[in-house]
Amino acid sequence: MGISPVWQLKGKKSVDEWIPLKAAVSGCTKCGLHKTRTQTVFGVGDENADWMLIGEAPGAEEDRLGDPFVGQAGKLLDNMLAAVGLSRSENVYIANVLKCRPPGNRNPAPDEVEKCTPYLLRQIELIQPKLIVAMGRFAAQTLLDTSASISSLRGRVHSYAGVPLIVTYHPAYLLRTLEDKAKAWEDLLFARTTMRGL
Ligand code: URA
Repeated sequence: MGISPVWQLKGKKSVDEWIPLKAAVSGCTKCGLHKTRTQTVFGVGDENADWMLIGEAPGAEEDRLGDPFVGQAGKLLDNMLAAVGLSRSENVYIANVLKCRPPGNRNPAPDEVEKCTPYLLRQIELIQPKLIVAMGRFAAQTLLDTSASISSLRGRVHSYAGVPLIVTYHPAYLLRTLEDKAKAWEDLLFARTTMRGL
């Protein structure tokens, strides 16, 4: 048997397939957010990851630095990941529903979500994660095509295009609502147990 590239072994896509997607995102003008962004925030991490974590939209720090979850919410996320032996640099990929910052960190508008979601779906297609963790209402509702609340979606394994998907609170919400941190921790342990059983 010959030696196959890793992406072939895992059924992953070649690096070349990322290039048009990255170019499309960085030059995107499909919604009004391109007028106010400093830069697009594509995603970060291992493009062959088994874990894919999905948030809402870049904030001020992310808009400034170009990577997702680099502000306060990102620090909390990194600490939570570290507590289960995960890190954004290894076997984890992090992206958002929106690739541009909504001014003043307002909620994403429906037309922004609609125009930006195809980029996220293509990222999922290229990464082919084993498990998706949807953090917060925008990621969960977009991927599951539902208007159900986070609390009603937590605690079970959903599916996005055949990929198991677990819903948890958004780290920025946890910074404001300390009493729900324990529930998010439960969700992460549930995700780890689910991953181990895949
Ligand atoms: N909140 C998000 O949803 N994504 C980020 O990248 C940062 C904060």
